Amino acid sequence: MKNIKILKLFVVMLLFFVSAGHLYALRQRPYNVIRHKTIKEYRAMSVSPIGWKVLGYSNDMNPVYYREFGSGSKTLLVIGGLHGDEPAATMSVIKFGEYLYEFPELLKNRVVLIPCINPDGLIMGTRTNANRIDINRNFPAPTWKAKYAKNHNNPGRLPGSEPETVLVVNAIYDYKPWMVIGVHQPFGKIYPSEGVPADLYKKMSKISGYGIDFDIGYDTPGSLGGYISEKSRAIPSITFEIGPIDIEPDYDAITYAFLEAANYR
Ligand SMILES: [Zn+2]
Repeated sequence: MKNIKILKLFVVMLLFFVSAGHLYALRQRPYNVIRHKTIKEYRAMSVSPIGWKVLGYSNDMNPVYYREFGSGSKTLLVIGGLHGDEPAATMSVIKFGEYLYEFPELLKNRVVLIPCINPDGLIMGTRTNANRIDINRNFPAPTWKAKYAKNHNNPGRLPGSEPETVLVVNAIYDYKPWMVIGVHQPFGKIYPSEGVPADLYKKMSKISGYGIDFDIGYDTPGSLGGYISEKSRAIPSITFEIGPIDIEPDYDAITYAFLEAANYR
C-alpha cells in the first residue's frame, strides 16, 4: 500500500516537471525566434542603406550604432536594448529608424537613435554586458550603489565603469536632448519621469496601447533615468516598456508613439 502511494506521488511529480518544462520550452521558442531575428537585424546595420554610424564599441568590441535624423535645436534621444535579453527593445528602435529614413518629411525636430547600446547582451541573450554588468545600474547617478542583491543587477565596481555607459553619457553631453526615451521589456507600460508633458505621454499611451505608470515598483540605483534626472541635468525621461519578451509587439504602433515624442513642440 505504502509503495503504491509513493509511486503515485512520483508519477504526479514527474507529470508536473514534464509539463512545467514543456511550458518553459514553449515560451522560450518564440523568444529565441525574436532574439535571433533581432541579432540578424543588428548585424545588418553595418551594411544598411540607412547609414548607421559607429558611436563606439562594447566590452566585447561589438559596434554600437547610432544615427541622427532631422534637424533643429530640439533633440530627442532614443536608446534601445539597455538589457540584452529584451530584443524587441532594440528591434523597435531599428524599425523607427527605418521609418524615419523612408519618411524624412514627417519629422519636425532632430532625433538621435541608439538602437542597441548592449550588443554583447543581445548576442549572448543576457541582461548584462560581456563584463556581466547591468548597464542600467552603472550610470554615474547620485543613486548609484555598489551593493546589489541579484547577479544580473551587478552595477560594476565604479559608476560609469562600462564603455556602453560612457557612450550614453557622452551622447547626452554632445546632443543635450530635451528628453530621453529608454526602451525596455516586458511590462507593457510607459513610465514618464517628472517634466514629461502629460499631453505627450497620454498620447503615446493611446497610440501604443501601453498604460501609464509612475512607479516601476522597485529601486533602480544607477539607472539612466536616475542619471539624467539629476539636478544639474534635469532631463525628462520615459522608460518605455514594451510587452512580454516572447510576443512580437506591434512595431508600427511603437513607431507612431516614438514619432509623437520626436515631433513634440
Ligand atoms: Zn530592461
